[in-house]
Amino acid sequence: MTALVIAEHDNASIKGATLNTVTAAAACGGDVHVLVAGHNAGEAAKAAAQIAGVAKVLHADAEGFAHGLAENVAAQVLAIASNYSHILFPATASGKNIAPRVAASLDVAQLSDITKVVSADTFERPIYAGNAIATVQATDATKVITVRTTGFDPAAADGGSASVESVTAASGEGKSSFVGSEIAKSDRPELTAAKIIVSGGRALGSAEKFNEVMTPLADKLGAALGASRAAVDAGYAPNDWQVGQTGKIVAPQLYVACGISGAIQHLAGMKDSKVIVAINKDPEAPIFSVADYGLEADLFTAVPELIKAL
Ligand SMILES: Cc1cc2nc3c(=O)[nH]c(=O)nc-3n(C[C@H](O)[C@H](O)[C@H](O)COP(=O)(O)OP(=O)(O)OC[C@H]3O[C@@H](n4cnc5c(N)ncnc54)[C@H](O)[C@@H]3O)c2cc1C
Repeated sequence: MTALVIAEHDNASIKGATLNTVTAAAACGGDVHVLVAGHNAGEAAKAAAQIAGVAKVLHADAEGFAHGLAENVAAQVLAIASNYSHILFPATASGKNIAPRVAASLDVAQLSDITKVVSADTFERPIYAGNAIATVQATDATKVITVRTTGFDPAAADGGSASVESVTAASGEGKSSFVGSEIAKSDRPELTAAKIIVSGGRALGSAEKFNEVMTPLADKLGAALGASRAAVDAGYAPNDWQVGQTGKIVAPQLYVACGISGAIQHLAGMKDSKVIVAINKDPEAPIFSVADYGLEADLFTAVPELIKAL
């Protein structure tokens, strides 16, 4: 029984979500191999070999993998899939783009967003926006899994000494090609990897106020900025800041929610945060039911005071 983890990387280093996925793979009970499909990705393969608990790294190098196109990576996974009992992806935008292609081609049911490995064929996953946990047993010979990274501790990024084996790059069907990308540059930590997140809701009232009130707090705490869907839909904050069921799932050490009511769809994305602080002027706001520290106050007064006190 061997599990294959599909590494998420930038051809030079391994992204954090891969480490949590390795922990989930190890819990399946067998050896753990990691696939690095990239272009000039030798450094990423070397980094994968350092991950504690990894027995072997498979390195497939081709131009078609340079930008992680789902069609091409899926073809590579399928070329080696028969060697594996479990194939695991982080449940990130990239993992969720590739895994269903692999599962469909193998004609197996995908196990999505697992948060616990009970045994080699039984897993837990949240349903109803995290309000219930389903225990699911998979009878397929190959288990294609996406891993909710907040459910598993990251494996140590070093301390391992896996062998790196080059594998023949599978040629995709050439149905897609990379045209370009527009990547927002930010000095802030990435939302899903941040240790501290400060998040703003509809109460901020405008993009200008969001920026004026929330940015100094994030700066002070070295935090990433997040937002509720209402704030994103109203244009106060960019789309990729959305936390929640249809946004990003986060579990930082500290989550500060300002003017966010705490709808279940928002809680689904942040309730596993280690410490939750909520600032809201409504004492009945549901966010207080998950908050470790709640401040019933007007955020336009409380946040500047907090910044001053920090
Ligand atoms: C299928 C589906 C998926 C969804 N996915 C998501 C998701 O991923 N993420 C998400 O966030 N939502 C999601 N939603 C939307 C969700 O249901 C809520 O509508 C949304 O989270 C509300 O955002 P909010 O708390 O900012 O706004 P509101 O609900 O309007 O709450 C604003 C809060 O600010 C407080 N407030 C107002 N003024 C002040 C002030 N001056 N100082 C302090 N507090 C103040 C109010 O008391 C209130 O509690 C989804 C909904 C659906 C149906």
